[in-house]
Amino acid sequence: MNETDVVIIGAGHNGLTCAAYLAMAGLRVKVVERRKVVGGAAVTEEFHPGFRNSVAAYTVSLLNPQIIADLNLAEHGLRIVERRAQNFLPAPDGSYLLTGEGRTRQSVAKLSQRDAVAIDAFSRELEAIADVLRQFVLRAPPNLVEGFG
Ligand SMILES: Cc1cc2nc3c(=O)[nH]c(=O)nc-3n(C[C@H](O)[C@H](O)[C@H](O)COP(=O)(O)OP(=O)(O)OC[C@H]3O[C@@H](n4cnc5c(N)ncnc54)[C@H](O)[C@@H]3O)c2cc1C
Repeated sequence: MNETDVVIIGAGHNGLTCAAYLAMAGLRVKVVERRKVVGGAAVTEEFHPGFRNSVAAYTVSLLNPQIIADLNLAEHGLRIVERRAQNFLPAPDGSYLLTGEGRTRQSVAKLSQRDAVAIDAFSRELEAIADVLRQFVLRAPPNLVEGFG
């Protein structure tokens, strides 16, 4: 007897999320992961004794609220912590870029006046693109839906 309907290769956050939805839909799912820990690039690891953090991806801005609700992530311990600054990027010569609400343009201006003038329009453009793409994020390809129908 076949005990598995779906095998997902890789327990990154996309694989784990898909596995959870498929299991909730009643399918028997097996996730295989080559590492000893799950999470892929969003894995939480102890990078120094006593300090745990995601060692690659660090923001959850793309984590869709619908997924947070569907998977009851708050009940499973999800707590989103707002950063005091968006990014702090130090350079070996002592200069740095500190970005975040209300301070990005000023910080960029220290490195490039030209970029400082352009950055607000650039950010607006990115937001507009993100708004267009966001609506497609949770849509399954039609043939996939038919396949499981
Ligand atoms: C440096 C860096 C910073 C990033 N920062 C952010 C951020 O701040 N916010 C954000 O939203 N996104 C960020 N991203 C993007 C985000 O990490 C990826 O979009 C996300 O990790 C993709 O998830 P995934 O599950 O598709 O793949 P992955 O996270 O790459 O997971 C794939 C998993 O599959 C496993 N695997 C691969 N091949 C096999 C195999 N043959 N057999 C078994 N297991 C296998 C791997 O070990 C891994 O665990 C960042 C990416 C990088 C590289």
